[in-house]
Amino acid sequence: MRAPLAGPRVLLRRLREIMAEPISAQVRLDKIVMQIAANMVAEVCSAYVLRSDGVLELYASEGLKREAVHNVTLKVGQGLVGLIAADARPLNLPDAQSHGAFAYLPETGEEIYHSFLGVPILRAGRALGVLVVQNRAHRTYTDEELEALQTIAMVLAEMIAAGDLEGLSRTGAPLDIARPVTIPGKGFCDGVGIGRVVLHEPRVVVTNLIADDTARERDRLTNALTSLRLSVDDMLARGDVAQGGEHREVLEAYRMFAHDRGWVRRMEEAIVTGLTAEAAVERVQNDTRARLQRQTDPYLSERLHDFDDLANRLLRVLMGRGDGALGKDLPADAIVVARNMGAAELLDYDRTRVRGLVLEDGTPTSHVTIVARALGIPTVGRAENVVQLAENEDAIIVDGETGSVHLRPSADVVFAYNEKVQFRAERQQRYRMLREQPAVTRDGTAVSLSVNAGLLVDLPHLGESGAEGIGLFRTELQFMIASKLPRISEQAALYRSVLDAASGRPVTFRTLDIGGDKVLPYLRVENEENPAMGWRAIRFGLDRPGLFRTQIRALLLAAGGSVLRVMIPMVTDVSEMVEARKLIDRELAHFDKHGHKPPLRILVGAMVEVPALLWQLDALMRISDFVSVGTNDLFQFMTATDRGNLRVANRFDPLSAPFLTALRSVAEAGRAANTPVTLCGEIAGQPLAAMALLGLGYRSLSMAPASVGPVKAMLLALDIPRLEGVLGGLLAHPGLPDGIRAGLRAFAQESDIPV
Ligand code: PEP
Ligand code: MG
Repeated sequence: MRAPLAGPRVLLRRLREIMAEPISAQVRLDKIVMQIAANMVAEVCSAYVLRSDGVLELYASEGLKREAVHNVTLKVGQGLVGLIAADARPLNLPDAQSHGAFAYLPETGEEIYHSFLGVPILRAGRALGVLVVQNRAHRTYTDEELEALQTIAMVLAEMIAAGDLEGLSRTGAPLDIARPVTIPGKGFCDGVGIGRVVLHEPRVVVTNLIADDTARERDRLTNALTSLRLSVDDMLARGDVAQGGEHREVLEAYRMFAHDRGWVRRMEEAIVTGLTAEAAVERVQNDTRARLQRQTDPYLSERLHDFDDLANRLLRVLMGRGDGALGKDLPADAIVVARNMGAAELLDYDRTRVRGLVLEDGTPTSHVTIVARALGIPTVGRAENVVQLAENEDAIIVDGETGSVHLRPSADVVFAYNEKVQFRAERQQRYRMLREQPAVTRDGTAVSLSVNAGLLVDLPHLGESGAEGIGLFRTELQFMIASKLPRISEQAALYRSVLDAASGRPVTFRTLDIGGDKVLPYLRVENEENPAMGWRAIRFGLDRPGLFRTQIRALLLAAGGSVLRVMIPMVTDVSEMVEARKLIDRELAHFDKHGHKPPLRILVGAMVEVPALLWQLDALMRISDFVSVGTNDLFQFMTATDRGNLRVANRFDPLSAPFLTALRSVAEAGRAANTPVTLCGEIAGQPLAAMALLGLGYRSLSMAPASVGPVKAMLLALDIPRLEGVLGGLLAHPGLPDGIRAGLRAFAQESDIPV
């Protein structure tokens, strides 16, 4: 037998009236369950609320014994109600007692009811309680009834989230969704940031749930979908994504979902039940999220993010919010929270107000991380689900040292972190005191420490860190943050400011390294399957010499009268160095002819970041004035692990025999040919790895400015000959159970070397 349904719209209208009545929360809840039971012709309707101790408590019931209310409890996972909360999935059963999870609770008197329909009370994909209807007769509830119950559960979720049910229970409090959470992640940039959440893509909170005019809501949804589809098409047509890459794939997925008939139909059906268009989007998204969260397939759980983003965009359109302009109304202690972002997007924020960055994705060597490090922003990556858990304005602490994020921290955590900040400030003070001290090891070996830079904002760090110079100036960053190709005069002006700021200290300008994860919004290049190994850096420079030559001219203009150091990225074959040098010489001849003041000297160096160069080292050292090892790329290509792919980026350890052996061969070849060798990949800034590099023969390292202090503190305590002995032993027995990293750490510990 099917019970006639008086209609979810009637029920929602009644619900709205109940919500407006000046009555206590308990009376309101009692009235709600009574209305649901009457409307759905159910003999029982019960609301269970999840308490903060993880127990589901019966908060209201029509039909079950009165004394059961606030006395009956179930653990999550226990009984049918517990199962619904655990799985965040509805149960529709004609005969509840024959279900394996059924738990008999004598206090309720429910044994006479056979059919059972229960739905989770969901908010942001999390179950805050369970809403149940029951009938004596064996019956299967219709989809319409199921949807009506899910809709009402949303209203209850808002009541719980707003704290309306606080104080009703005699023994516990409802789960506080604003409770503190600690999210483990990976420290990408050292430092501690205490502040307030700024969601990079702000989420919209829907508070207006119930509507009278269904036709109007449907039109609103249709219009919003049209404008959403147009904006996705627009984004796809834009230059920055037109050439492909991960960003494009995500947008392609958006386009597919935006046209997904099932999605649209489900939202339309939710509107028919009496919801506003925005509430319908959220309802359907709650379901999708609950469904996809249970997926173990990484591809499908990744799609959840896409659906979340898309639903959020749709909500913004519906609620007339723009894309949430960056930097506007930014609090002075902003901690930016994002799934991921491009380097240029981070630079859009007012640096003086950003205290930290939290990313769900990202990798330690991706570009946004490198920029965050350049800006000295404490950063934690791979903080799972943080975008979902955080709300704008929430208090948050980012600990780049331990890689943890504390959302809505308790008072003790805040206190502990204030202490930690104080302690770190003292340590920074000690590093500052090291600034004037020469970087010489205990055995008297001088080491040159330089900084990596790429933007004007980096320049003050040169003096603050006490570095000897700029070992790597990534010129592409200027191009990446510009909206159009920087003119020669603009390029020259930046290079001039860099040389001025360095006041005589050496600066190594790397020519444009575009491609891979470094894309220029205005430069259309072909869609490449594998851009990191594609037409990038010097390959592009030699094939299309216009851009390369303009850059060389800008460098010559800037460096008149001083030494110019130019470094070529992604050299794969020594002949490319010969070609590059020819182009440079040609520009120099042209320059002389026009009577400009030439640089005092031009030194041309190669980056060693493609493994093929390891077998051309003698020739390379002969024709290069210097070389610099780019371990970020060298490691990526030697181990065939994409540096930007978080699933594999950390799979292998750079402090392993094959990689260290390769690095040693470069240092040795440089020494034999008397060609200076530097190392400028991210590992140079990690004290333990930097120690290993000194053991391999490196005497010049270039790193993020904030690493200079810790690396110098390490080397002041280091005795290189002793390390060489230990490292030689570790490399000779690469199969040691704890690995080379552990062996080096033990050496540092027993020698009192801070790493
Ligand atoms: C490297 O590859 O190690 C390097 C320093 O260059 P980038 O990180 O800019 O690719
Ligand atoms: Mg590189």
